[in-house]
Amino acid sequence: MRIGLFGGTFNPVHTGHLRAALEVREAFALDEIHLIPSAIPPHKDPGGIAPARQRLAMVRAAAEDQEGFVVSDVELQRRGPSYSVDTVAEYRRSLPQDGRLFLIIGGDAFKEIHTWKSYRRLFEQVAFIVMVRPGGQPQATAAVMEEIGHCLHRHVDAGYRLQAQRPRFVHDSLQPVAVTEVTRLQISATRIRSLIAAGRSIRYLVPDTVMDYIRRQGLYR
Ligand code: ATP
Repeated sequence: MRIGLFGGTFNPVHTGHLRAALEVREAFALDEIHLIPSAIPPHKDPGGIAPARQRLAMVRAAAEDQEGFVVSDVELQRRGPSYSVDTVAEYRRSLPQDGRLFLIIGGDAFKEIHTWKSYRRLFEQVAFIVMVRPGGQPQATAAVMEEIGHCLHRHVDAGYRLQAQRPRFVHDSLQPVAVTEVTRLQISATRIRSLIAAGRSIRYLVPDTVMDYIRRQGLYR
């Protein structure tokens, strides 16, 4: 059982998130991708964030038709800020013996990983999948790999090394960090919120089920 953990504020969830999740699921042959809305995102300004139960409902509406997408409310069940290290620990406790966990994270967020709570422990506990934009040219990809390698050496451990022929960093005792190119649609939750506030349509940026939910609940006006 291979399970990917894809967390986010999802304020709201949009087609960019869903497409990225689907591509990662295929590329890494994951049985399930768990979409995990954060209850209280530690790194975001709380102003303008819809209540967690509404963000959860939107992720549920978005994921209902997609095989292999599972929506998790683990972070809503805890009190206080939603730290990945706690979520991973919780998943590890209930993981079957043959289970493998992968923490999916955007390349930009990965560069800030040293600001996350107990981030070193994450590298002991879970394999990473870092999503980067398609480079187009091989040099672009090489530059991204270099940046990620630099970040690992500087903030985590100098023992990480690039595996031959694969965009993956390995370590003798810590967990591997794979890098994968995913389509990054030019969609952001911030832009969606401002379109709604301006009274404009968000159709095709989010699934219709999410658009209907936002309209019915009067969110982001
Ligand atoms: P905001 O605009 O409010 O900052 P966001 O959509 O960028 O929202 P999150 O909901 O927290 O932020 O994103 C969750 C994860 O999805 C992050 O790992 C982020 O890198 C990734 N992500 C966000 N937008 C896209 C996109 N258009 N394509 C692929 N991945 C994305």
